[in-house]
Amino acid sequence: MTTFDAALRLRLEQRQVKGLYRARKVLQSPQARQVQVDGRTCIGFSSNDYLGLASHPALIQAFQQAAERYGAGSGASHLVSGHSVEHQALEEELAEFTGRPRALLMSTGYMANIGVIRALTDRGDTVVQDRLNHASLLDGGFLSRAAFQRYPHGDLSAAEDLLLQGAGQKLLASDGVFSMDGDLAPLPALAELAHRSGAWLMIDDAHGFGVLGATGRGIVEHCAMSLAQVPVLVGTLGKAFGTFGAFVAGSEMLIETLIQFARTYVYTTALPPAVAAATRVALRLVDAEAWRRLHLREMIDHFRSGAAAHGLPLLDSVTPIQPVVIGDDARVMRISEQLLAAGFWVGAIRPPTVPAGSARLRVTLNASHRKEDIDALLDALAVALRRESAS
Ligand SMILES: *Cc1c(COP(=O)(O)O)cnc(C)c1O
Repeated sequence: MTTFDAALRLRLEQRQVKGLYRARKVLQSPQARQVQVDGRTCIGFSSNDYLGLASHPALIQAFQQAAERYGAGSGASHLVSGHSVEHQALEEELAEFTGRPRALLMSTGYMANIGVIRALTDRGDTVVQDRLNHASLLDGGFLSRAAFQRYPHGDLSAAEDLLLQGAGQKLLASDGVFSMDGDLAPLPALAELAHRSGAWLMIDDAHGFGVLGATGRGIVEHCAMSLAQVPVLVGTLGKAFGTFGAFVAGSEMLIETLIQFARTYVYTTALPPAVAAATRVALRLVDAEAWRRLHLREMIDHFRSGAAAHGLPLLDSVTPIQPVVIGDDARVMRISEQLLAAGFWVGAIRPPTVPAGSARLRVTLNASHRKEDIDALLDALAVALRRESAS
């Protein structure tokens, strides 16, 4: 073994010893109610395809037709020669969907967050974030030139102190729905705090769009907030919208600023136009097939009441993200393997994705689930937990 590989092996072994080694499972089917994973058929409870749109026939058809018309790839970044009519139309429709003057397509949510924070702040400025924000927001803070401060989850008086102590332009950034706990940010209080402290508020609503609010416009609709209160709104397309990519929605000045200064926008290849075409159909289906959102809500209620009846510990979540905290890293892996053997694919989440000692099963519900799927999952989970406490 080369000294290079020997050095890497040491780090990998350390991760293995800690019980934190990660491995991928191979999916052999589309995202759907039933999935094929590592040669086994099971009910999927680990996808972010909340509305079941990822394999919707209308999205697939739009994708195919646009690929025939515009090819498989976009060929360049948006500013060079990759900005197609499909991208332009989707941006206009996203602006209308979010009720904002403009929207800008980004290649991923990860890149959107890094690019936006860097574009809006500079040396001498201050970025303040919730500690449990998504890694991409946190990395955006670390990679910016501003001073970066984090407050304990949901602790707005700590946030206020950090904002008061901060210098320069202040940017307060939060997940709308926290991705590993499923709880909502206290958006009205955050907006009030931002207003009081002269900070700009940025909300990443990756898990809220399509799901929250009477018409699926996300946490901003759910909390009835205005553009002035939440000037920077980020959404992703790979979750409830069923495709891939992300967007930022806001004022004319925000979007022009990002086109000029967001490096993760300027220096990357545009999404394939076919992805934009499929996403345009997804936007229409969020309205036209509102039953998906209503059914999803029913599944969330059914899961929560069933889990309570089984005496399972639940977090305070009204979203499709319903974590069951187990605590021990090795234990959560054993339970998820038992569930897989029983025909249920549930993600096991360990540190550093979640704080040490809070390893969990991250049950995610979607519009393709049926009540009997959830009942069967809860029964299997109760059996696995009993077996664990007996051993
Ligand atoms: C998934 C997620 C992202 C990343 O989006 P991608 O398009 O998958 O890169 C960003 N923020 C939050 C809160 C997310 O859950």
